[in-house]
Amino acid sequence: MSSRTPLIAGNWKMHKTGFQAVEAASQLKRLVNRATDVEVMIAPTFTALYQVAQALKGSTIALGAQNLYWEKQGAFTGEISSEMLVEVGCSHVIIGHSERRLFFGETDASINLKIRAALSASLIPVFCIGETEAQREAGETFSVLDKQVRDGLKDFVFDDLSGLVVAYEPVWAIGTGKTASKEQAQEAHQFVRSLLDTLFGKPFASAVRILYGGSVKPDNVRVLMEMPDIDGALVGGASLDPETFSKLVFFNE
Ligand code: PEP
Repeated sequence: MSSRTPLIAGNWKMHKTGFQAVEAASQLKRLVNRATDVEVMIAPTFTALYQVAQALKGSTIALGAQNLYWEKQGAFTGEISSEMLVEVGCSHVIIGHSERRLFFGETDASINLKIRAALSASLIPVFCIGETEAQREAGETFSVLDKQVRDGLKDFVFDDLSGLVVAYEPVWAIGTGKTASKEQAQEAHQFVRSLLDTLFGKPFASAVRILYGGSVKPDNVRVLMEMPDIDGALVGGASLDPETFSKLVFFNE
Protein backbone atom coordinates (compact mmCIF):
# COMPACT_ATOMS: atom_id res chain seq x y z
CA MET A 1 0.00 0.00 0.00
CA SER A 2 1.08 3.56 -0.68
CA SER A 3 1.30 6.66 1.48
CA ARG A 4 -2.03 7.87 0.08
CA THR A 5 -4.74 7.84 2.76
CA PRO A 6 -7.26 5.17 1.80
CA LEU A 7 -10.84 6.22 1.17
CA ILE A 8 -13.70 3.79 1.71
CA ALA A 9 -16.80 5.25 0.11
CA GLY A 10 -20.35 3.94 0.20
CA ASN A 11 -22.79 4.64 -2.60
CA TRP A 12 -26.27 4.03 -1.25
CA LYS A 13 -27.87 4.58 -4.66
CA MET A 14 -31.70 4.79 -4.52
CA HIS A 15 -31.91 2.94 -1.21
CA LYS A 16 -33.08 4.08 2.23
CA THR A 17 -35.60 6.75 3.10
CA GLY A 18 -34.41 9.69 5.17
CA PHE A 19 -35.34 7.88 8.37
CA GLN A 20 -33.56 4.68 7.35
CA ALA A 21 -30.51 6.63 6.18
CA VAL A 22 -30.22 8.41 9.53
CA GLU A 23 -30.46 5.06 11.35
CA ALA A 24 -27.72 3.56 9.21
CA ALA A 25 -25.48 6.63 9.39
CA SER A 26 -25.83 6.81 13.17
CA GLN A 27 -24.93 3.15 13.51
CA LEU A 28 -21.98 3.55 11.18
CA LYS A 29 -20.80 6.54 13.16
CA ARG A 30 -20.58 4.37 16.27
CA LEU A 31 -18.96 1.48 14.45
CA VAL A 32 -16.16 3.42 12.76
CA ASN A 33 -15.54 5.91 15.52
CA ARG A 34 -12.08 4.48 16.30
CA ALA A 35 -10.93 4.30 12.67
CA THR A 36 -7.64 6.05 11.97
CA ASP A 37 -5.58 6.45 8.81
CA VAL A 38 -8.61 5.89 6.62
CA GLU A 39 -11.25 8.25 5.29
CA VAL A 40 -14.87 7.20 5.12
CA MET A 41 -17.58 8.69 2.95
CA ILE A 42 -21.23 7.79 2.46
CA ALA A 43 -23.46 9.00 -0.34
CA PRO A 44 -27.16 8.73 0.55
CA THR A 45 -29.92 9.77 -1.81
CA PHE A 46 -30.54 13.54 -2.19
CA THR A 47 -33.59 13.68 0.05
CA ALA A 48 -31.68 12.16 2.97
CA LEU A 49 -28.61 14.39 2.76
CA TYR A 50 -29.65 17.07 5.21
CA GLN A 51 -30.81 14.63 7.87
CA VAL A 52 -27.72 12.47 7.48
CA ALA A 53 -25.47 15.54 7.71
CA GLN A 54 -27.05 16.30 11.10
CA ALA A 55 -26.64 12.70 12.24
CA LEU A 56 -22.95 12.68 11.23
CA LYS A 57 -22.07 15.74 13.28
CA GLY A 58 -19.17 14.94 15.58
CA SER A 59 -17.86 12.17 13.34
CA THR A 60 -15.23 12.23 10.61
CA ILE A 61 -17.46 10.43 8.11
CA ALA A 62 -17.75 12.60 5.03
CA LEU A 63 -21.01 13.14 3.22
CA GLY A 64 -21.27 12.76 -0.54
CA ALA A 65 -23.99 13.20 -3.12
CA GLN A 66 -24.50 10.81 -6.01
CA ASN A 67 -24.79 13.41 -8.75
CA LEU A 68 -25.11 17.14 -9.45
CA TYR A 69 -25.96 19.47 -12.29
CA TRP A 70 -23.31 21.86 -13.56
CA GLU A 71 -25.35 25.07 -13.77
CA LYS A 72 -25.51 27.25 -10.66
CA GLN A 73 -29.27 27.86 -10.85
CA GLY A 74 -32.09 28.30 -13.34
CA ALA A 75 -34.87 26.53 -15.17
CA PHE A 76 -33.52 22.99 -14.84
CA THR A 77 -36.41 21.06 -13.34
CA GLY A 78 -35.33 18.21 -11.13
CA GLU A 79 -31.68 19.15 -10.98
CA ILE A 80 -29.45 20.04 -8.03
CA SER A 81 -26.46 22.39 -8.08
CA SER A 82 -23.08 22.10 -6.40
CA GLU A 83 -23.89 25.05 -4.15
CA MET A 84 -27.01 23.28 -2.91
CA LEU A 85 -24.94 20.23 -2.04
CA VAL A 86 -22.38 22.26 -0.16
CA GLU A 87 -25.09 24.03 1.79
CA VAL A 88 -26.64 20.76 2.87
CA GLY A 89 -23.28 19.50 4.19
CA CYS A 90 -21.68 17.56 1.34
CA SER A 91 -17.93 17.53 0.82
CA HIS A 92 -17.89 14.90 -1.95
CA VAL A 93 -19.93 14.07 -5.02
CA ILE A 94 -19.92 10.93 -7.16
CA ILE A 95 -19.77 11.86 -10.83
CA GLY A 96 -20.20 9.69 -13.91
CA HIS A 97 -21.25 6.49 -12.18
CA SER A 98 -21.83 3.79 -14.79
CA GLU A 99 -25.54 3.65 -13.87
CA ARG A 100 -25.81 7.33 -14.75
CA ARG A 101 -23.92 6.79 -17.98
CA LEU A 102 -26.12 3.81 -18.85
CA PHE A 103 -29.60 4.83 -17.68
CA PHE A 104 -29.44 8.62 -17.76
CA GLY A 105 -27.38 9.33 -20.84
CA GLU A 106 -24.38 10.88 -19.15
CA THR A 107 -21.48 11.41 -21.50
CA ASP A 108 -17.81 12.17 -21.02
CA ALA A 109 -18.63 15.76 -22.00
CA SER A 110 -21.39 16.20 -19.40
CA ILE A 111 -19.20 14.50 -16.82
CA ASN A 112 -16.47 17.02 -17.59
CA LEU A 113 -18.90 19.89 -16.88
CA LYS A 114 -19.99 18.23 -13.64
CA ILE A 115 -16.42 17.75 -12.44
CA ARG A 116 -15.74 21.40 -13.20
CA ALA A 117 -18.85 22.52 -11.26
CA ALA A 118 -17.93 20.33 -8.29
CA LEU A 119 -14.37 21.58 -8.10
CA SER A 120 -15.36 25.18 -8.39
CA ALA A 121 -17.63 24.72 -5.35
CA SER A 122 -14.79 22.92 -3.49
CA LEU A 123 -16.60 19.59 -3.62
CA ILE A 124 -14.38 16.54 -4.09
CA PRO A 125 -15.48 14.71 -7.22
CA VAL A 126 -15.35 10.94 -7.19
CA PHE A 127 -14.95 10.51 -10.93
CA CYS A 128 -16.11 7.06 -12.07
CA ILE A 129 -14.74 5.24 -15.09
CA GLY A 130 -14.83 1.64 -16.25
CA GLU A 131 -15.34 -0.68 -19.17
CA THR A 132 -18.29 -2.93 -19.90
CA GLU A 133 -17.94 -6.69 -20.20
CA ALA A 134 -18.20 -6.51 -24.00
CA GLN A 135 -15.49 -3.88 -24.13
CA ARG A 136 -13.20 -6.00 -21.95
CA GLU A 137 -13.85 -9.07 -24.07
CA ALA A 138 -13.08 -7.07 -27.20
CA GLY A 139 -9.73 -6.04 -25.70
CA GLU A 140 -10.81 -2.41 -25.42
CA THR A 141 -10.38 -1.89 -21.68
CA PHE A 142 -7.43 0.48 -21.90
CA SER A 143 -8.76 2.46 -24.84
CA VAL A 144 -12.09 2.94 -23.05
CA LEU A 145 -10.37 4.10 -19.87
CA ASP A 146 -8.08 6.35 -21.89
CA LYS A 147 -11.01 8.10 -23.55
CA GLN A 148 -13.04 8.42 -20.34
CA VAL A 149 -10.12 9.98 -18.49
CA ARG A 150 -8.97 12.26 -21.32
CA ASP A 151 -12.48 13.53 -22.10
CA GLY A 152 -13.72 13.65 -18.53
CA LEU A 153 -10.71 15.75 -17.52
CA LYS A 154 -10.38 17.67 -20.80
CA ASP A 155 -9.11 21.24 -20.48
CA PHE A 156 -8.23 20.92 -16.82
CA VAL A 157 -4.76 21.67 -15.58
CA PHE A 158 -3.01 20.09 -12.64
CA ASP A 159 -3.87 22.93 -10.24
CA ASP A 160 -7.61 22.66 -10.95
CA LEU A 161 -7.82 19.07 -9.88
CA SER A 162 -6.69 19.13 -6.30
CA GLY A 163 -8.68 16.62 -4.26
CA LEU A 164 -10.05 14.75 -7.27
CA VAL A 165 -10.65 11.05 -6.62
CA VAL A 166 -10.93 8.55 -9.46
CA ALA A 167 -12.97 5.37 -9.11
CA TYR A 168 -12.21 2.50 -11.47
CA GLU A 169 -15.38 0.45 -11.62
CA PRO A 170 -15.50 -2.26 -14.26
CA VAL A 171 -19.18 -2.26 -15.21
CA TRP A 172 -19.29 -6.06 -15.32
CA ALA A 173 -18.30 -6.17 -11.64
CA ILE A 174 -20.90 -3.71 -10.31
CA GLY A 175 -23.64 -5.41 -8.36
CA THR A 176 -22.91 -8.73 -10.04
CA GLY A 177 -20.83 -10.45 -7.37
CA LYS A 178 -18.01 -10.74 -9.97
CA THR A 179 -15.00 -8.88 -8.61
CA ALA A 180 -12.05 -8.03 -10.81
CA SER A 181 -9.06 -10.08 -9.73
CA LYS A 182 -6.44 -8.12 -7.86
CA GLU A 183 -4.22 -8.36 -10.94
CA GLN A 184 -6.95 -7.06 -13.29
CA ALA A 185 -7.72 -4.19 -10.92
CA GLN A 186 -4.07 -3.29 -10.34
CA GLU A 187 -3.36 -3.33 -14.09
CA ALA A 188 -6.23 -0.89 -14.75
CA HIS A 189 -5.27 1.35 -11.82
CA GLN A 190 -1.66 1.44 -12.96
CA PHE A 191 -2.78 2.32 -16.47
CA VAL A 192 -4.94 5.18 -15.19
CA ARG A 193 -2.21 6.50 -12.91
CA SER A 194 0.32 6.52 -15.70
CA LEU A 195 -2.15 8.29 -18.00
CA LEU A 196 -2.69 10.92 -15.29
CA ASP A 197 1.08 11.28 -15.09
CA THR A 198 1.21 11.93 -18.84
CA LEU A 199 -1.65 14.42 -18.68
CA PHE A 200 -0.96 16.25 -15.43
CA GLY A 201 2.50 15.28 -14.22
CA LYS A 202 3.98 13.04 -11.58
CA PRO A 203 3.14 15.02 -8.42
CA PHE A 204 -0.54 14.86 -9.31
CA ALA A 205 -0.49 11.23 -10.48
CA SER A 206 1.32 9.98 -7.42
CA ALA A 207 -1.01 11.84 -5.04
CA VAL A 208 -4.37 11.11 -6.66
CA ARG A 209 -6.43 8.38 -5.07
CA ILE A 210 -7.82 5.71 -7.35
CA LEU A 211 -10.56 3.65 -5.76
CA TYR A 212 -11.68 0.25 -6.97
CA GLY A 213 -15.40 -0.46 -7.22
CA GLY A 214 -17.25 -3.62 -8.17
CA SER A 215 -18.60 -6.13 -5.67
CA VAL A 216 -16.16 -5.20 -2.93
CA LYS A 217 -16.99 -7.25 0.16
CA PRO A 218 -15.34 -7.95 3.52
CA ASP A 219 -13.80 -11.13 2.11
CA ASN A 220 -12.07 -9.54 -0.87
CA VAL A 221 -11.26 -6.01 0.30
CA ARG A 222 -7.93 -6.84 1.87
CA VAL A 223 -6.31 -8.44 -1.17
CA LEU A 224 -7.46 -5.56 -3.35
CA MET A 225 -6.18 -2.97 -0.88
CA GLU A 226 -2.77 -4.66 -0.86
CA MET A 227 -2.22 -3.68 -4.47
CA PRO A 228 0.08 -0.67 -4.87
CA ASP A 229 -2.25 1.46 -6.98
CA ILE A 230 -5.53 0.71 -5.19
CA ASP A 231 -6.24 3.47 -2.70
CA GLY A 232 -9.68 2.57 -1.47
CA ALA A 233 -13.05 1.29 -2.54
CA LEU A 234 -16.31 2.64 -3.88
CA VAL A 235 -18.91 0.25 -2.56
CA GLY A 236 -22.56 -0.23 -3.48
CA GLY A 237 -24.31 -3.29 -2.05
CA ALA A 238 -21.95 -3.90 0.85
CA SER A 239 -22.24 -0.29 2.02
CA LEU A 240 -25.94 -0.59 2.85
CA ASP A 241 -25.43 -2.58 6.02
CA PRO A 242 -23.36 -0.57 8.55
CA GLU A 243 -21.82 -3.71 10.12
CA THR A 244 -20.63 -4.98 6.76
CA PHE A 245 -19.44 -1.58 5.63
CA SER A 246 -17.50 -1.07 8.85
CA LYS A 247 -15.59 -4.28 8.09
CA LEU A 248 -14.44 -2.66 4.86
CA VAL A 249 -13.32 0.42 6.77
CA PHE A 250 -11.23 -1.85 9.01
CA PHE A 251 -9.84 -3.79 6.03
CA ASN A 252 -6.43 -3.80 7.67
CA GLU A 253 -7.41 -5.68 10.82
C1 PEP B 1 -21.15 0.85 -7.19
O1 PEP B 1 -22.32 1.03 -7.34
O2 PEP B 1 -20.36 1.80 -7.35
C2 PEP B 1 -20.68 -0.49 -6.84
C3 PEP B 1 -19.40 -0.74 -6.91
O3 PEP B 1 -21.65 -1.39 -6.48
P1 PEP B 1 -21.40 -2.87 -5.86
O4 PEP B 1 -20.40 -2.69 -4.74
O5 PEP B 1 -22.73 -3.31 -5.39
O6 PEP B 1 -20.82 -3.71 -6.95
